[in-house]
Amino acid sequence: MQSSDDPKDAERRKYWDQSLKTYTLLKSNVYLDRKRRVVTEDDIFVCECLKAKPAEALYLEIQNPHLSYNCGERCINRYMCTECDGESCPCGKFCQNRRFQLGQNAKIYPKPTQGKGWGLFAAENIKRGDFIVEYIGEVFAVNSEEGQIRVETYNVWKY
Ligand SMILES: [Zn+2]
Ligand SMILES: [Zn+2]
Repeated sequence: MQSSDDPKDAERRKYWDQSLKTYTLLKSNVYLDRKRRVVTEDDIFVCECLKAKPAEALYLEIQNPHLSYNCGERCINRYMCTECDGESCPCGKFCQNRRFQLGQNAKIYPKPTQGKGWGLFAAENIKRGDFIVEYIGEVFAVNSEEGQIRVETYNVWKY
């Protein structure tokens, strides 16, 4: 993590301000042609990870290669590309598999690119496999009325 007094932060903030004159920052997906799916209790899969003090979790995983602690890389929900539920996860507050829900994004910023509109850039080193950010936007089917309008519009832009 870089500290907040990184001299490049001022430039990055300028790009953020500039981008928000063109784009609207969404905090969650916007569903245009259907309702958001509601997660029920039956949809929640509870993993079998064990809770450990964060400082001890890595040591315990090395000692017990068949076990998973604090929903790290071996958590079955991670393999299933699913986040844990905050109330039912056996690791409770030590669960490391709630990054979407808790908004644990990598440090990123938007910046104009040559001929390709705005791009998203990393403001810190990001390790392979690290969580960057949830892709949030408008959700609709390509074959919906809105989808067909967008396909035609984006074809004209040729991005
Ligand atoms: Zn787990
Ligand atoms: Zn968990």
